[in-house]
Amino acid sequence: MDAGVLRKFEMAPAPKFCRKRQRLVEQFLIAVKEHNELQNAQVEGLIAGKGFSLKWEIADARERRDRAKHTILAHQQSHGCK
Ligand SMILES: [Zn+2]
Repeated sequence: MDAGVLRKFEMAPAPKFCRKRQRLVEQFLIAVKEHNELQNAQVEGLIAGKGFSLKWEIADARERRDRAKHTILAHQQSHGCK
């Protein structure tokens, strides 16, 4: 490897695996799944003539999902990981 290539390699940002970010992403994915499941249940309920019986649960799940997303973004910004 010549010096130029080596220098480029050294200047490349180190791939930064962050365990904390990974954990936050897992929490976000769980929150997304819960929100989706509630929405699906709501659709089933509407079809069955039960109205919007899950609207508050869905609103709470959406809030948890959005909070989880913002937690990831805030962590990335402060920690510099991606
Ligand atoms: Zn991080």
